[in-house]
Amino acid sequence: MPSTHVVAARRLEDFVSAIFAAAGCSRDEAAQIGHFLLSANLAGHDSHGVIRTPRYVQWLHEGKVLAGQKLTVVNEGPVTATVDGNYGFGQTIGPLAVDLGIAKARASGLAAIALRHSGHLGRIGDWGERAAAAGLVSLHFVNVESGELVAPFGGVDRRFSTNPICIGVPSDGTAPMLLLDLATSLVAEGKVLVASNGGKPVPEGSLVRPDGRFSNDPADLYGPLRPAAPRDPAMGEGALVAFGLHKGSGLAFMCEILGGVLSGGGTSGPIPGGKRARISNGMFSVYVDPAKFGGGDFIGGAREYANYVKASRPVTPGAEVLVPGEPEARTRADRLANGVPLQEETWVALGNTARTLGVAVPE
Ligand code: NAD
Repeated sequence: MPSTHVVAARRLEDFVSAIFAAAGCSRDEAAQIGHFLLSANLAGHDSHGVIRTPRYVQWLHEGKVLAGQKLTVVNEGPVTATVDGNYGFGQTIGPLAVDLGIAKARASGLAAIALRHSGHLGRIGDWGERAAAAGLVSLHFVNVESGELVAPFGGVDRRFSTNPICIGVPSDGTAPMLLLDLATSLVAEGKVLVASNGGKPVPEGSLVRPDGRFSNDPADLYGPLRPAAPRDPAMGEGALVAFGLHKGSGLAFMCEILGGVLSGGGTSGPIPGGKRARISNGMFSVYVDPAKFGGGDFIGGAREYANYVKASRPVTPGAEVLVPGEPEARTRADRLANGVPLQEETWVALGNTARTLGVAVPE
């Protein structure tokens, strides 16, 4: 088990925000990036949290993600819009696109927003939670242009990115927040990254080799692993595997059609010249005002059903059945109270990035 470094949530957010401010973002944008990266750690999705900081700073310096961007409206109607994120930070562009969907759904009861060319949108659950906080149900289908990592069911060659899907349901605080938020690969790429640094191993069968054999070896994604060397998925010959056989593979395929083709941002494909020009997420989102539908007390009904599901007898005596969103809510409560554990390697990498930018590393 690698050693961990525990940092108070607020301190970590301030530290990461200071790094982005020193790297060239405005104070507000830096604070927003720090907020959403920390939010992923608080939810327990460390693969999409502050571990991304060195990579994001490198992308900023290489012009692969741009500071200070806004949405450009490509086309718009009363309940629809296609918007371009102009390769701005996902933590800046994501909230703008979601807030547009919220405004339209509040006015009309329903809205669909196709976002293209956004920088990495991180943990998609943040966008489902933002809509839920506004009282809306939301569905999100995400792809990564030119970011293929995942083999289709029955294939060995990469064709999809890890294409997350998220469905968020509003709560009145008396029930667990219902939030389904998952990659359509059996494991998210960030989890292979964590495993490649000596963290929690990924399950057997998460990767497929070019000869069709399944494995759990991160080297199949990144090529031969050298300690502390950057991990580059363009160097590996294998692929990630979709979850749930043909079913997850089918969902990943549809994320490409909705997030990539419908938005006009483009589907996953070979990383040009083996070197990704920029990371670009596409996201097709639907926002629904439950008050406009005939189910009566929607939140009460959802709470009642969640409680019924949770009352299912557990497979393992003494264990508990959880509903989507519950593990994240529990981890958030724990980490807000007790601090955020980071792999030593992540803490060292954050410190190195901070020092190159003249940012003081907290004791
Ligand atoms: P995961 O496998 O941990 O699944 C998480 C989902 O399953 C959550 O909805 C959670 O509440 C639910 N869940 C977990 N354990 C449960 C249990 N015991 N009972 C009931 N429900 C349970 O997540 P993942 O697939 O590793 O994805 C991690 C994160 O990566 C997500 O936040 C996703 O948005 C993000 N992601 C982002 C991108 C991108 O391009 N921006 C790409 C891939 C993944």
